[in-house]
Amino acid sequence: MNRRRFLAGGACCALAGHGFAFAQEPWQAPPRLAKPDLATEEGGLWAMMDREERNIRRSPFLIRDRRLHDYVQDIACRLAGDHCPDVRVHIVNTPLFNANMAPNGMMQVWSGLLLRAENEAQLAAVLGHEIGHYLEKHSLERLRDVKSASALAQVMGLFGIAGAFGQLAVIAGMLSYSRDQERKADLIGSMLMHRAGYDPAEAAKIWNNLLLELKARPDGSPSANSPMFATHPSPEERSETLSKLAAGMPGGRTGAETWEEKIRPFRNEWLKEEIKRGQHEESIALLTRMGAGSTPNSEYRYARGEVYRLRAKAGDLDLAVADFQAAAAIGGEPPETHRALGLIYRSRRQISEAKASLRRYLELMPSAPDQAMIKSYIEELGS
Ligand SMILES: [Zn+2]
Repeated sequence: MNRRRFLAGGACCALAGHGFAFAQEPWQAPPRLAKPDLATEEGGLWAMMDREERNIRRSPFLIRDRRLHDYVQDIACRLAGDHCPDVRVHIVNTPLFNANMAPNGMMQVWSGLLLRAENEAQLAAVLGHEIGHYLEKHSLERLRDVKSASALAQVMGLFGIAGAFGQLAVIAGMLSYSRDQERKADLIGSMLMHRAGYDPAEAAKIWNNLLLELKARPDGSPSANSPMFATHPSPEERSETLSKLAAGMPGGRTGAETWEEKIRPFRNEWLKEEIKRGQHEESIALLTRMGAGSTPNSEYRYARGEVYRLRAKAGDLDLAVADFQAAAAIGGEPPETHRALGLIYRSRRQISEAKASLRRYLELMPSAPDQAMIKSYIEELGS
């Protein structure tokens, strides 16, 4: 047993008096999970997962960028340790916070999770938790409880590419893990983070951040629109559990700088997808949080301005203008910042401001797809 694992084990036992009934013994990772015999029930489920994985590999939603894939795969691998060869990461372009790992080792990471994590350690918290469910075979236990074939197909859909959107509530009810399974996955996730050198304190943060965003929904129901919350009970309780676990495993890195460097090239695209969801209140909460970091970021300011502009409630256009102007002042803003500003000025008949902004847009994006229209607007505004 290496020293780190021993220390983590000690941390888990020290917490036994605080409600961790299962944590009597330090957790040890099982040996690598062998592919089950096809003739068994488990083998049949495994084969179905293999089919889902072939679908994912062919899907237009799969993000095929090699460097991004290798980066996320490497984080998953460091968490999985000896199980690394069995974990296959697939990054899927879906603007929701979600990751899961099927019994056959197929791990899905959605772009909405990558957009929301603030650093490597926060992603590691979610992946470590899912690896915990995998190592303990929790989903197999749940899948065995599902009796009818149609119900099974729906549960399989949760791991499949289409997952989660339409039938989220139905599926979630079937695949929600038990409290003990959740606690165990949280314990394992924190230990894997610690062992990989990440600060386990980041785990509670990413869940708290997501909760903040989902609470901003007009209907106030976090589970209605989040596969993660629909399948994971009581975020407040989990946050407390994770904080206690982290207190027993202090230290570790967040990997914020590498994270920023690797995610930056994709962020603007993912922000556009986030805006397209049309969940204005959630998006505003998300972008306000992410824009509040110590380094001013013009992409978040532009994106929040866009959400205000599209929501268009009383006062929203003024908020949009303020955000667009702030983005331009920070610098490095998406060219569309000036397009959006120009269109608002145009509608307000602020002629010289409108022309200046639209011209700036064309300057920054000379081959913009809408350049003909923008040029005609500039002409129409006169001199
Ligand atoms: Zn879980």
